[in-house]
Amino acid sequence: MTAQIIDGKALSQRLRVGFRERVERLKARGVSPGLAVVLVGDNPASRVYVGNKIKACEECGVHSLHIGLAADVSEAEVLATIERLNRDAGIHGILVQLPLPAHIPIARVLEAISVHKDVDGFHLYNVGALVTGTSIFPPCTPYGVQLLLDTTGIDVAGKNAVVVGASNIVGKPMGLMLLQREATVTICHAKTRDLAQHTILADILIVAAGKPGLIVPQMVKEGAIVIDVGINRLPDGRIVGDVCFDAVKEKASWITPVPGGVGPMTVTMLIENTLRSAERAFKAADGDEFQDWEAPVVKSPD
Ligand code: NAP
Repeated sequence: MTAQIIDGKALSQRLRVGFRERVERLKARGVSPGLAVVLVGDNPASRVYVGNKIKACEECGVHSLHIGLAADVSEAEVLATIERLNRDAGIHGILVQLPLPAHIPIARVLEAISVHKDVDGFHLYNVGALVTGTSIFPPCTPYGVQLLLDTTGIDVAGKNAVVVGASNIVGKPMGLMLLQREATVTICHAKTRDLAQHTILADILIVAAGKPGLIVPQMVKEGAIVIDVGINRLPDGRIVGDVCFDAVKEKASWITPVPGGVGPMTVTMLIENTLRSAERAFKAADGDEFQDWEAPVVKSPD
């Protein structure tokens, strides 16, 4: 079996067409959706990620505000910056690019962001609400994976889903979102004994470990859906995921490439959450012109 490719770049482009229409609708009602991105220090990878987010905002007509703070900024100044943004009616989403310098406690910074502007979905409220399926803003990477899975047209309910990686930003929320959709979920991590024993049972295998070459065909069930979240730069400069793509695609039914799979969807879901926030703010201020938000519906290819 040769897998069909799940094209995250193409899906992102389709979704962004819809975003531009939503931006126009908001602007016609006097709301210009705005996203603030706070970058502390000058980590080169973070600068690239922030640049991609600002570019996506421009592409969709979303106003973006880039706030750069020095690496030695005090915690109080970071919190004051967030507080200002919380009160700024022209800003609907606030994102603090991670990681932060060691002297700034990530948890305190994330909890300072208003729950109503937490478009990364990392505030404790939104994290906790994932457990009950009531999160206002699902975290962007797992949210993007969910839509990629939808493109296969395969119902997740009842499937064995194995997530490799248990981080707060990818693995854990991914597991909760799959559970919410009634999959039987296993979350593996670095201490998991005999990883292959778990992955081989996966109808849906989602890999987010940051280890190139981690998943080889012998670890994959024939016909599995394989989503590779990993982004790794090899010494020769190539970007690869955690899955041995060429070999595993001969065994899987569907697979995401790296690049061009999950990566573009993460940024796209950030814009989705920002628009949702602007629509919620408008609704709260002006009554009921906007329908309650619904997740974008992704149709499987014909
Ligand atoms: P992270 O915080 O480093 O977490 C990695 C997770 O993988 C940890 O839970 C770790 O286990 C587990 N792990 C590491 N080695 C393993 C192994 N050999 N077997 C099983 N589990 C293992 O990383 P992250 O932020 O979640 O990111 C993971 C990868 O996804 C990275 O490559 C990152 O660049 C990429 N990423 C991509 C996107 C995107 O948009 N495509 C977004 C975010 C992240 P322990 O908990 O036991 O340490």
